[in-house]
Amino acid sequence: MAGSLDVGVGMLIAASLSFAYGLEVHPPYVLVFGALFALLPDFDIVLPILKGNIEGNHRLTLFHAPLLTLGIVAFFGAIGSFYAGNIFWLVCPLVCVLWHYIHDTEGWFLGNGAIAWAWPYRKTTYTFKGPTILEEGSHDEWLTTNWLKPASLSIKELGLGALFVGAAIAFFYGSFWGCVAFAAAILSVIVAWISYSFFSRGFF
Ligand SMILES: [Zn+2]
Repeated sequence: MAGSLDVGVGMLIAASLSFAYGLEVHPPYVLVFGALFALLPDFDIVLPILKGNIEGNHRLTLFHAPLLTLGIVAFFGAIGSFYAGNIFWLVCPLVCVLWHYIHDTEGWFLGNGAIAWAWPYRKTTYTFKGPTILEEGSHDEWLTTNWLKPASLSIKELGLGALFVGAAIAFFYGSFWGCVAFAAAILSVIVAWISYSFFSRGFF
């Protein structure tokens, strides 16, 4: 849920760049490619979530150190684009990963949190307003308060995420399927919220 806007924007970036750079085919995996790279910096939290023991704030790990990760992505992207013969395979992952960090940085409409933008030169975490101390916080509490029920953050991000997923699907498959994807995304969020509300009250 929390990655829905990353996924939506990543898919839209991949769809539009695949046309801009004239990819000869536009298979679905291009959309998956964009979504995965837009989520890449959060992969360090997948295992702790599955194990059920999340400690500290995962935005303080090296996965959220843009100078390091963007450098690694650029290196492998350059190799990929060289062999594939299209710079799309360099530009798309870079833009998607960069989008993730901008989204994780407070100081504009969609941003929240802070990132160690200058690591390894500085450990300080920054929002777009300036340096800040990133709180350790409780991941479970953050999820419950902001995502597992209608809240300003969840409504804004899930709504826009569904809209961008629909737009990316429409790029490839036409507006009908774009609308279907948008409706399916919204519906699945509502079902998830209702299920969680019953689950948390012990009805299931
Ligand atoms: Zn992140």
